[in-house]
Amino acid sequence: MDRLSLFHPVTSIADLAANGPTIYQSANGVRMQNAAGRDVIDMGAGLWCVNIGYGRGELADAAADAMRNLSYQHLFGGASCEATILLADRILTLFRNRANAPHMARVFFGTSGSDANDTALKLVRYYNNMRGLPAKKKIISRLGAYHGVTLASGSLTGIAAYHKAFDLPIEGVLHTSCPHYYGGSENGESEAAFTERMVADLEAMIKREGPDTVAAFIAEPVIGTGGVVLPPENYFQRVQEVLDRHDILLIADEVITGFGRTGQWFGTGTYGLRPDIVSLAKGLTSAYFPMSANVVSERIWSVLEDTSAQMGAFMHGFTYSGHPVGSAVAMANIDIIEQEGMVENAAALAPRLLSALQERLGENPYIGDIRGVGLMAAVEFVADRETRRPFAPGTNPHRLVARLATEQGVLTRALPYLTVNSFSPPLSITASEIDEAIDRYAQAVALATPQLA
Ligand code: PLP
Repeated sequence: MDRLSLFHPVTSIADLAANGPTIYQSANGVRMQNAAGRDVIDMGAGLWCVNIGYGRGELADAAADAMRNLSYQHLFGGASCEATILLADRILTLFRNRANAPHMARVFFGTSGSDANDTALKLVRYYNNMRGLPAKKKIISRLGAYHGVTLASGSLTGIAAYHKAFDLPIEGVLHTSCPHYYGGSENGESEAAFTERMVADLEAMIKREGPDTVAAFIAEPVIGTGGVVLPPENYFQRVQEVLDRHDILLIADEVITGFGRTGQWFGTGTYGLRPDIVSLAKGLTSAYFPMSANVVSERIWSVLEDTSAQMGAFMHGFTYSGHPVGSAVAMANIDIIEQEGMVENAAALAPRLLSALQERLGENPYIGDIRGVGLMAAVEFVADRETRRPFAPGTNPHRLVARLATEQGVLTRALPYLTVNSFSPPLSITASEIDEAIDRYAQAVALATPQLA
């Protein structure tokens, strides 16, 4: 029935026709059961999103209560509801107290990471039109970035596979270098020198295009889908200087890094960012309800506020913006993250995840780099460790390993840009669950290794 009725996202139609779907039945904590009854540890937390782990009844109760109580409320024309008001205030408080970002002023809600980045792009246009700068509209993203799949957010995504045959990117979106030190540094270049080269690339692009035409730079604090690419030393500090010099906004896409993933509440805090817009989704509700948010800075908000009488209503928003059920779920989710110390757990177990990977896999001839921050880690495969030579195109060791890992009872993702398996377990994971999962993963790597020669 699946093959005959479902159109799967990000799936090979040919592979599905040949192999059929993998159906999951139930899940609890970090463990899932597939239809064959196999226990698998989900080291991906779904798509980097089930931050509190599976099966939390508190969120089900919050959703049921909200559905019974109000069911639905839009926010158009000044309509509002209590759960959404409380959630907006709570997010601002978290940015103020846990991310050193007291300049964030308002929260706008949507339903997905993609629509949050679309909203960010529209806000940037609106802001510069209101400032009388209609030529200042281009957005610079990065190669390897993942920002979603709609026309606008898919254009911001810097991975060619998402553009192919969709006629993307749209005009006005540019991609600068991917700051991947392990794969991109040249001739023994130091990390500091690599950062300078990345920042010089960015500034050269701005100057080439004309600073008067560039409105914003968008970045994930840690590139997720592009390969768990950590910002090299001092990268964001130096980028921020360039942006300030040219009056360019910073959009931080915290769809993955938000709500504890990096071992702090937000990547904004982890890396000392000063964003003008932050996109949030995934961990906001731990994916129990589709919900996203844009946190907007005072600098943008004051322009919108000052021009409101002249412009009339802000004509952007969705039927489900600030949905009361999503807001109630998000509040219950944040309660759990706070009460159970999950951000602290992510920080405490980060070294355990990396050391488990390093101890079991560090000597493998095809594993070049193991890196991570918080509960977000990568294993990167290379054909030759000495030279860091990549595997030939079409050879996909990370896909082979991910498939074997599923058979061994652990889910890892085979990413689409670098030859990387990623790990982003629920933040509720324990040390022994990490060890068990990485044991299973190491068995899969051992089975794959002879086939990689
Ligand atoms: N931004 C980042 C950093 C993401 O990782 C994702 C999804 O993986 C998105 C945006 C898009 O979110 P969604 O799939 O909810 O549209």
